[in-house]
Amino acid sequence: MQRISADKWYEVRRLADDVTAIGEPYIQEFYRCNIWHVRGRDRDMLVDSGMGVVSLREWVPVVTERDLIAVASHTHFDHIGCHHEFECRAVHAAEADLLANPTRQNTLADPYVTDEIFDALPPEPYCSACYAVKRAPATRILQDGDVIDLGDRVFEVIHTPGHSPGGIALWEARTATLFSGDILYDGPLIEDTYHANAQDYVASMERLLRLPVRIVHGGHFPSFDGARYRQLIRAWLEGKGRIVPPA
Ligand SMILES: [Zn+2]
Ligand SMILES: [Zn+2]
Repeated sequence: MQRISADKWYEVRRLADDVTAIGEPYIQEFYRCNIWHVRGRDRDMLVDSGMGVVSLREWVPVVTERDLIAVASHTHFDHIGCHHEFECRAVHAAEADLLANPTRQNTLADPYVTDEIFDALPPEPYCSACYAVKRAPATRILQDGDVIDLGDRVFEVIHTPGHSPGGIALWEARTATLFSGDILYDGPLIEDTYHANAQDYVASMERLLRLPVRIVHGGHFPSFDGARYRQLIRAWLEGKGRIVPPA
């Protein structure tokens, strides 16, 4: 398979509200994590850091422009690969051990990471069989209700277990923006990982439905608006046989 040079690995798109989307276009869409950079007055926030097969710090200048807190929406391999490159790392308490002691199994690299998830391979010396996430012990442990303060903007941590035990969403009330991680995005959701929990998943979805969200930046697939958000959650809950009260 063709190899892509490091300078072409990432794709960077500036969106509204000082949000920048960083992607890894040569990973197939289903496996490709969205990396989000949010500019704040005093510091920036990174939500997830991709597979870690090419250095973010070296090839994506926006992540080094100022102080930055690298938050993990959760600790699957596709979301935390470059966390070790950042000094300030935050994760929910329930997955702190995972970020500190990642293995191919507990990050799901095994069984997901094979050459088949790529349209073109990362540069040498990348090899799918030897791929592993580097350890990146958290410097800040998050709990539900904690706040990530960027100076002029604040994001509330919403614990959303279900897809994984320490999944979080980040909610900015002022702009009604939600970074949802893998609990909800506009594509096939994963409910059967080794540490998934069906009951927690339902409770997280019911809680998310009560948020007055206008824009959602998920862990995978394109961003969407509040109408789509409510439609996706309602359809999902109805699929689980839950009765969803009208809006
Ligand atoms: Zn995940
Ligand atoms: Zn994911």
